[in-house]
Amino acid sequence: MSCDFIALANKGVQELHPYQPGKPISELERELGITNIVKLASNENPIGLSGKAKAAMEKEFADLARYPDANGYYLKAKLSERLGVGINQITLGNGSNDVLELIARVFVAPEHEVIYSQHAFVVYPIVTQAIGAKKVIIPAKDWGHDLEATAAAITPNTRMIFIANPNNPTGTWVNKTDLKAFMDKVPQDVIVVVDEAYYEYVEDADYPQTVPWIKEYPNLIVTRTFSKAYGLAGARAGYAVANEEITGLINRPRQPFNMNSLALAAAVAVLDDHEYLQKALDVNKSGMQQLISAFDELGYDYIPSVTNFITVDMKQAAGPLYQQMLEQGVIVRPVGNYEMPNHLRISIGLEEENAKFIRVLREMTK
Ligand SMILES: *Cc1c(COP(=O)(O)O)cnc(C)c1O
Repeated sequence: MSCDFIALANKGVQELHPYQPGKPISELERELGITNIVKLASNENPIGLSGKAKAAMEKEFADLARYPDANGYYLKAKLSERLGVGINQITLGNGSNDVLELIARVFVAPEHEVIYSQHAFVVYPIVTQAIGAKKVIIPAKDWGHDLEATAAAITPNTRMIFIANPNNPTGTWVNKTDLKAFMDKVPQDVIVVVDEAYYEYVEDADYPQTVPWIKEYPNLIVTRTFSKAYGLAGARAGYAVANEEITGLINRPRQPFNMNSLALAAAVAVLDDHEYLQKALDVNKSGMQQLISAFDELGYDYIPSVTNFITVDMKQAAGPLYQQMLEQGVIVRPVGNYEMPNHLRISIGLEEENAKFIRVLREMTK
């Protein structure tokens, strides 16, 4: 007789659906018998690794037999200076997803409620479900967060609220006035996590600069990442900024070496690579324009986005279209798991990558 291991797992984990990873590109190319697949599926930075980050990692190779600096001294020092916060207000992570999970584990227990929006980033339901806490999902408004409804949903059991600003996969964002009004309504014993993975891309003057708000709202945690505009998705580097007390708590269960030496070195270096960041933003801006023009011309509705991706309404089940595009050598992201069965999310690529996607889309539109 064999043991029912599923019954042994935590309740939350028992009901958790595993993340469906895609196949490696090289494997897809082999299976489909094609080459030069263009990947516009994971909101990665299409311009590749920063030269400064690469050089910093190469320099680090010699010391890879040693454990990383468990406190990330140099990276924290640089972030502290850049953000105008104390070193003791920063938590480093193996990508910001690592930090998001840590934050949830520190504050949320099965008896709590966690609030987030419909169509919000997939990590919030995963971490909430893994703990076995109650998921409170607020219907989206114009694809974005409805902050009034979110505040109204707070109960004495609410422990945490996740806000992706901007949100993935919708590309929508909340402005300064609305976020501030929302923060004023949230009791201090409810932790608000504002996930700013696409922070660097947003140009609008009404986009909130939240880090300085931490003084005023001690229950506010801001997370950011090096995976998008800074082009280090594979290295895994992200961080949270919060008040010192919260930061101390998040660091208690943190694995001391959760950010590896290469990621630490690369992150420090890329923060000084202003040319790289500017190029990434420029390429993104013109690529966004390129895609929008094509959608307008071909008659597709899209959700206006301030990020490095755009989500478009295909007006039919997007799953088969995704498969067709894949066979033509373009990988995009169907977002049915976000309750958006007719949408595809397209990450902005290089000009020629976007052009290939547009060719395939045009062909399919005929
Ligand atoms: C990409 C993304 C992240 C970043 O994840 P990392 O673990 O830092 O790579 C976080 N939040 C959102 C909303 C994202 O889209």
